[in-house]
Amino acid sequence: MSEHPLFNEEHRAIRKTLREFVAKELTPHADRWEAEKGFPDQVFKRMGELGFLGLKYPEEYGGQGGDYLCGVILAEEMMGCLSAGLAMSIGAQTDMVCALLEKMGSGEQKEQYLRPALAGEMIGCLCITEPDAGSDVAAIRTVAEREGDHFVINGQKTFITNGVRADLAIVVARARGSEGAKGMSLLLVEKGTPGFSVSRKLDKVGMHTSDTAELFFEDCRVPAENILGEEGQGFYHIMWELQPERLFGAVSSVAAAQIYLDITLKYVKEREQFGRPIGKFQAIRHRLADLATELEAARQLSYYTAGLIQAGEFPAREITMAKLFATRMANRMADEAMQLHGGYGYMMEYPIQRFWRDSRLIRIGAGTDEIMREIISKQMGL
Ligand SMILES: Cc1cc2nc3c(=O)[nH]c(=O)nc-3n(C[C@H](O)[C@H](O)[C@H](O)COP(=O)(O)OP(=O)(O)OC[C@H]3O[C@@H](n4cnc5c(N)ncnc54)[C@H](O)[C@@H]3O)c2cc1C
Repeated sequence: MSEHPLFNEEHRAIRKTLREFVAKELTPHADRWEAEKGFPDQVFKRMGELGFLGLKYPEEYGGQGGDYLCGVILAEEMMGCLSAGLAMSIGAQTDMVCALLEKMGSGEQKEQYLRPALAGEMIGCLCITEPDAGSDVAAIRTVAEREGDHFVINGQKTFITNGVRADLAIVVARARGSEGAKGMSLLLVEKGTPGFSVSRKLDKVGMHTSDTAELFFEDCRVPAENILGEEGQGFYHIMWELQPERLFGAVSSVAAAQIYLDITLKYVKEREQFGRPIGKFQAIRHRLADLATELEAARQLSYYTAGLIQAGEFPAREITMAKLFATRMANRMADEAMQLHGGYGYMMEYPIQRFWRDSRLIRIGAGTDEIMREIISKQMGL
């Protein structure tokens, strides 16, 4: 990937270190971890130890004190491991759990949770989605009732990334009787708290290395000081404060699509049919030219948006557009990669089928295509 002027010398050095780490310590194990449908907790520890989980977080809590773009580089380089599930698990830790802890946590909460999370010693998950409330976050039903100096949580969460292995769950729950976006709070629930259980590890089409859980909360009591951020403001904390992290899906999709394209280009130059490399057929050359153009457009929109965030702006519109455009592009790229690999693309021994399965999720997770269009069209006054 050619380096964009957005990145400086320091960023380039971080990218080089990350790329070497991924190639040496992650990619060689990707096939085995995919087959085993999981990867060791040790990967979190190792990445914490090397400072990768804390690239964009304050040194005060064990981070590296880098800027927003360091997080972009992490999201991009992780795709090089060729296991999007692994990259997603790490992303849930860095861009959902750590992001909320850093933005909303008290000094004590940061010491107790953010520091070990950045060190990879505490794995976290963010629990928003419920069986009857996905896109419509304001419809969640999990309740957190105040009883003296405790909150008592009752409810169910589903599709939670890292949920099976998590040491810490950030749970979105509402005050009894509250409705819509009002009355929601974020609560920190540690593994082993009575009443908190993993009811199921869910089996998925792709992203096999990441664990996805269904979680239960039954009279689960947590101290009142475990509230993260302001009581009753949970909806706004997750919808608003996590906006910059939403770009994660876009930049990782661009990086993934580049890999799909590179592998496909190599293949069409080597594979011969009708006495010539299939890449010489105009029908194929033109398709690849279109895909490369779309990829570049997605990259420029994502980087433009990252540049705005880096400059301290809050480009909700561009983040949403980048997420919508880049994830759809990556999904198309994976589909075309399979088409151009023919029968080999459909075989489990080639990575193309994994790209095809994995890339489908990102149009659903972290806000579906339709919800992205809803947000954009609302901003257009529609
Ligand atoms: C592998 C995986 C990992 C995940 N990780 C997490 C996690 O860590 N934490 C977490 O909280 N959640 C997580 N999710 C949940 C994810 O965010 C939701 O699946 C997503 O928001 C969609 O919700 P839903 O699945 O309930 O679909 P629904 O909201 O039921 O949507 C179904 C369909 O209806 C469409 N639709 C809904 N509303 C509208 C509308 N107003 N206009 C037009 N179309 C609409 C949707 O776009 C979609 O096509 C994960 C999901 C998956 C699959």
